[in-house]
Amino acid sequence: MFKLHSLCMLGTLVAIGACKQTNDRALDLSHPPPGSSEAGTPLTESSSAPSTNQAAPLVSQHRIANGSSFYQSLKSEGINSQTILALVKSAEKIFPVKEIEAGTAYSITWNPEESVSPRKVELKYAADSSLVIEKSETDLEWTASKTTLPVTLIRKTFRGVVGTTLWESAEIVGMDPVLITSLAEVFAWQVDFNRAVKRGDRWRLTVEQKLVADQPIGWGNILVAEYENDGQLHTGIRFPQEGAHGSYYMPNGQSLKRMFLKSPIKFGRITSGFSQNRFHPILKTNRPHNGVDYGAPTGTPVMAVGKGEVISIGYTPANGNMIKLRHGGGYQTAYVHLHNFASGLHLGSNVEQGQIIGAVGSTGMATGPHLHFAFYTNGVYADPMGLKFPSAEPIGTSDLNQFKQLASNVLQTLPAWQMAQQEPVKASTLDGENPSRPLMH
Ligand SMILES: [Zn+2]
Repeated sequence: MFKLHSLCMLGTLVAIGACKQTNDRALDLSHPPPGSSEAGTPLTESSSAPSTNQAAPLVSQHRIANGSSFYQSLKSEGINSQTILALVKSAEKIFPVKEIEAGTAYSITWNPEESVSPRKVELKYAADSSLVIEKSETDLEWTASKTTLPVTLIRKTFRGVVGTTLWESAEIVGMDPVLITSLAEVFAWQVDFNRAVKRGDRWRLTVEQKLVADQPIGWGNILVAEYENDGQLHTGIRFPQEGAHGSYYMPNGQSLKRMFLKSPIKFGRITSGFSQNRFHPILKTNRPHNGVDYGAPTGTPVMAVGKGEVISIGYTPANGNMIKLRHGGGYQTAYVHLHNFASGLHLGSNVEQGQIIGAVGSTGMATGPHLHFAFYTNGVYADPMGLKFPSAEPIGTSDLNQFKQLASNVLQTLPAWQMAQQEPVKASTLDGENPSRPLMH
């Protein structure tokens, strides 16, 4: 109940009663009207308590029902069309009213003299933002404004050990699994989280949590994270110097970014690895498998593993929809059996690392939805897992002292590693080449 209640807080208004769409009217006890000497007197709309002449405004809480709109919702509260049109018109000057979604909470402050005449409507369109539509002093016109509540950032820390899956290691310790996605993004150049996660891998991180009025509304940046993969420790420290997102560096100032991401899809599983000799499920013969197959549902986004140029895009009966990219240094990558291509992509397009270029599909000779990913060095197929690639620019010498100071501070915020387990878990590959379940789910 407390949770539901707190979710219904509307700015400074006090939510009383359930917050589903309701006709219940309740007093805003926290804000007695100016001049009221009876603050806190429990009046209700139907109260027969002696009138004080300065009636308090009545505030009721509502939520736009599924399939309804802001307009319909106000209408169902008994407000006349003319009034609704007037207040919507004023709101539209600063906010696209049509975009207000079902489920959005709002409150109505009623005119105490007329039961169906509102004085103010306050709509909470985001966790920290409200739209306030009020009748002006003269009672002639509606004016709309936006209010934003201050967001406070606090630091939270989490740590976990992989037992069965990475995802589960987050759930076990009560961490929002979305943060596991963020963790995987920090180390996207170091670890292929689709195939390299091992039992006994451990991780820890410090992340910003956003609070509004002491209530958590979401996550900010991961400030520092460590992932120990098969005994190898990776450390990422966020240094907010370039762009809005900041980049992650090792404690010595080296960038975590590499020329290529470890995987073209975030969530999937390896169904077939690179091999010289594999039984082809459709051709029914043994032939080399010159790439890596990632099993994932149709529509799963496919990313360019590196910055490059589209040198082939189109359909062939064998490959289905395929994109081939040329990167620097004689490297090329191919993405095969795509469901579709990202819009606007054409021969000669330049793509950035991590850019979505298409979606997983089963076009061409494919038994089911998967991405066949091929990597070439100087025109020859290669297994990218066995190659080392150059890293991005390290922290500049002028920023290095500042970074090292930040790094030593932020590393101290990490929680201690969990106590070593009595019996060390065997470091065995969880997926192998034919895993029975995806590691990220
Ligand atoms: Zn394949």
